[in-house]
Amino acid sequence: MSQANVDSAEIAKFNALAERWWDPNSEFRPLHEINPLRLNYIDERLSLPGKKVIDIGCGGGLLSEGMARRGAEVTGIDLGEAPLAVARLHAEQSGVEVEYRQISAEDIAAERAGQYDAVTCLEMLEHVPDPSSVIRACFTLVKPGGQVFFSTINRNPKAFLFAIVGAEYVLRLLPRGTHEYAKLIRPSELAGWARDAGLEVRDTTGMTYNPLTQVYKLNRDVSVNYLMHAVRHA
Ligand code: SAH
Repeated sequence: MSQANVDSAEIAKFNALAERWWDPNSEFRPLHEINPLRLNYIDERLSLPGKKVIDIGCGGGLLSEGMARRGAEVTGIDLGEAPLAVARLHAEQSGVEVEYRQISAEDIAAERAGQYDAVTCLEMLEHVPDPSSVIRACFTLVKPGGQVFFSTINRNPKAFLFAIVGAEYVLRLLPRGTHEYAKLIRPSELAGWARDAGLEVRDTTGMTYNPLTQVYKLNRDVSVNYLMHAVRHA
């Protein structure tokens, strides 16, 4: 393996929870609830049927499998062994074909440069020591003319209050310590890294949660959670 851009404590966190990944009432409930929104966001821009897609930091496979169900040919990679085992089992039991591999973004990029119509890297960059290195790997993996999708959490007082205090301590949607404030990423920082890697940012869309109605929505408010769509020039 190349010089690893990985925080082993982060991998351990997700390994410990992995068996509950597909339980919609578990710690992964927020991912289950946002999954249709982000699948629609990606499908509207990419048109998933027939596309070759690699999902970086796929975890238990909610997004990978969702994209495969919509007709994409999907590879999911992660460094966590337990989430990948859960992902493989779930795909098999559901009769959905997804290729899962335990490898870093940087290493698969060296192996499969330019082979994908699209790269997705959702809710992963805020768990990595050097996000810009993962973003460069995403650029390398996508074909010229291809598309890259990111999502993460903004870094500002409101994001601290909603994504950490609210989600982890008050509403207890996520285990305490899931997200570390200093590792959250402002849209300007993500866009800067994407541009430095050679990508052109096309869109940034917010994802908001209303704790009263318990409904997630896509909208223009990027102050907490957000998605970003970028392209590699043809
Ligand atoms: N992208 C999935 C899972 C998000 S959870 C989704 O949105 O549904 C974050 C995932 O990132 C975990 O599965 C964790 O194991 C993985 N991860 C963290 N650091 C990583 C790294 N350096 N390389 C690859 N995967 C990593």
